[in-house]
Amino acid sequence: MDSWQSPIAPGISWYQASVGERPAYPALDGSRTVDVAIIGGGYTGLQAAYNLAKAGVSVALIEAGRFGDGASGRNGGQMGTGQRWWPEELEQEIGYERSKILFDMAENAKRHLHDFAGTHGIDMDYMPGQMNVSHKPGHDKDYRANAEIAAERYGYPHITFMDARETAERLGTTGYYCGVRDVGTGHIHPLKLLVGLARVASDAGAGIFEMTKATAIRQAGGKTMVETPRGTLIAERVLVATNAYIGDLEPVTAAHVMPIGSFIAATPPLDDFPHVIPGGEAVADSRFVVRYFRKSRDNRLLFGGREVYSSRDPADTANAIRRQIVATYPALKDVEITHVWGGNVGITMPRQPFVREVMPGVTSIGGYSGHGVMLSNYCGKLYADMVTGKATDLDHLAALKIPAFPGGRHMRTPLLFLALTWFALRDRL
Ligand SMILES: Cc1cc2nc3c(=O)[nH]c(=O)nc-3n(C[C@H](O)[C@H](O)[C@H](O)COP(=O)(O)OP(=O)(O)OC[C@H]3O[C@@H](n4cnc5c(N)ncnc54)[C@H](O)[C@@H]3O)c2cc1C
Repeated sequence: MDSWQSPIAPGISWYQASVGERPAYPALDGSRTVDVAIIGGGYTGLQAAYNLAKAGVSVALIEAGRFGDGASGRNGGQMGTGQRWWPEELEQEIGYERSKILFDMAENAKRHLHDFAGTHGIDMDYMPGQMNVSHKPGHDKDYRANAEIAAERYGYPHITFMDARETAERLGTTGYYCGVRDVGTGHIHPLKLLVGLARVASDAGAGIFEMTKATAIRQAGGKTMVETPRGTLIAERVLVATNAYIGDLEPVTAAHVMPIGSFIAATPPLDDFPHVIPGGEAVADSRFVVRYFRKSRDNRLLFGGREVYSSRDPADTANAIRRQIVATYPALKDVEITHVWGGNVGITMPRQPFVREVMPGVTSIGGYSGHGVMLSNYCGKLYADMVTGKATDLDHLAALKIPAFPGGRHMRTPLLFLALTWFALRDRL
């Protein structure tokens, strides 16, 4: 199978191919003084820009590439429910009261995203349903408890337990042992949302600029200066919304938010394989190196995963993901891969969001750890609420204990590589 070659358009995601030509925005052209400067044009940054502009705050946002080049235009599109951890797991660490606050906040984030898309006429290809499934036997009790706890302790009655038979029926594979099905959430076309969001932010009066990379952040005279090769933004406040793409720009964020590559492959529409997720839900499995997959609105399988040893060659990545697809769905042994792409997921040590004032007046928000579709949109809005003096839920995230990765900037990647290799091996055992 390794010699199999696909007609892949290198680097073009199915999201890009299906959206077509994206509207272009200008690069920054000269220096500006604004109330708020934002670095990074994903969901976090653009939501903050939109909400600030709407509230009458002068705001300029710069994006190093095109809007959607980061995780927001490339992700698996699964909205999920709650935080990255199940609420009962969070409870162990921060207690029921705080866990419930974070759960409710995520429900607000879900509502916010639906309301935002609805209000602005953004068709984000929403499809309902999400399933979490166990790749190992013996976990029925935990999954059953998850559904019960969600209903009884968190007021969320939309999750049901699936035994092995129901799991096999709903996924169309016998590769999993049990799971839970959540009908209170779903999945989206992430780039359609992003393109709509950029338009809405621009229409609201935010200055949004593409192809403008921040090269330094410095402070003098009570102001913050964001340097770019095309001029300087001089601001009262700055939002660092670069998530996993921070590079060397700001050391505190870089020490706490680590990029991990994740890859997705798309097949042609699977009209001949109606048994593959017949209900159209999204799926995430229990592997440490999570496999996540779903059908698109036009019936393609979008299958995400990560090979620890993955090379940078798209054909190798396509082959690696194709092996995972065939292992899950043997009937797809001859299926083509039409598109394959990757992106950086920003993770933190405890896999909880990173919200911190990293310099006076400079806030960094990111590290949603693979759970940022709802949360990043909401955090951008909450940041705007904070700036405009409204009550904000952002404090609950800022209060989370997020330590830096061990090993410093040079050693942490090899250390993570070793850890991932070990966990990937454990997933296979
Ligand atoms: C392959 C993949 C699959 C995922 N699947 C899911 C999923 O199914 N569900 C889920 O909830 N989450 C998922 N995520 C995570 C989710 O996409 C992110 O949490 C979310 O998009 C983060 O948005 P953001 O705006 O904070 O960051 P991003 O969208 O990454 O935006 C950051 C932007 O900052 C820009 N930037 C960086 N440095 C500079 C600079 N110096 N100057 C100017 N601009 C700069 C980058 O170019 C980038 O566009 C996935 C991520 C990936 C990569």
